[in-house]
Amino acid sequence: MKKEKCTAIIAAGGSGRRMGGPVSKQYIELKGKPILAHTLQVFQDAEIIDEIILVVGKDSVDIVKKDIVEAFGITKAKKVIPGGSERYASVYQGLLACPDADYVFIQDGVRPFVTEDILNRGYETVRRCGSAVCGMPSKDTVKIVDADGTVVQTPDRSRVWLVQTPQIFSLPLIRDAYEKLMAGDPSGVTDDAMVLEMAGEKVTMFEGSYRNIKITTPEDLAVAERFLEDS
Ligand code: C5P
Repeated sequence: MKKEKCTAIIAAGGSGRRMGGPVSKQYIELKGKPILAHTLQVFQDAEIIDEIILVVGKDSVDIVKKDIVEAFGITKAKKVIPGGSERYASVYQGLLACPDADYVFIQDGVRPFVTEDILNRGYETVRRCGSAVCGMPSKDTVKIVDADGTVVQTPDRSRVWLVQTPQIFSLPLIRDAYEKLMAGDPSGVTDDAMVLEMAGEKVTMFEGSYRNIKITTPEDLAVAERFLEDS
């Protein structure tokens, strides 16, 4: 069976301000290997992924090519390109560098616990629905607050999902939505699903895993070390 072409865009252009410390969080080592290399390895090993476009900080392109892509044998990473000042700007650069895929898998570089199983489930969903956004039902009750911290609303918890990556789309759909976004005011956009929502398109969620955490603060690093010891 001929499979559609699947390209991963890995967003790793952030500075990791919330982590503190001198090293951007995607380059911090877990078990002797940078977080970003763990993430890339999953896509390298996944049968359905044909190609990887890696988006990094504008001053990191050469060092990432040498110390991560070559050092860890990520042969599917055909392009390592500079990103922008916000996540959406980095993803947009990734989309511009991706002329010919059927589906794009947009992934945070700092989510190393994505699995081949999650990628396969997402692929099945995107083929059926045109979009597939990874996430999990919220275990906690969520409050919407105003700028002073006063509660405005408590959404029905059974309908609240926490969003992860990969977020998978047919290429023309997400490219057109990003073109519209970038022609207007993109500020405040924190994930790719939001870009489709703003364009009035339907977005479908699928279940990832409670382990598929984003490493953002030092507490997350401690959890990640534990996960690796268990595995
Ligand atoms: O900003 P946040 O912590 O949610 O970052 C999620 C992912 O987006 C990270 O992997 C980060 O490196 C990436 N990012 C990016 N370009 C930016 C900001 C964040 O690729 N300008």
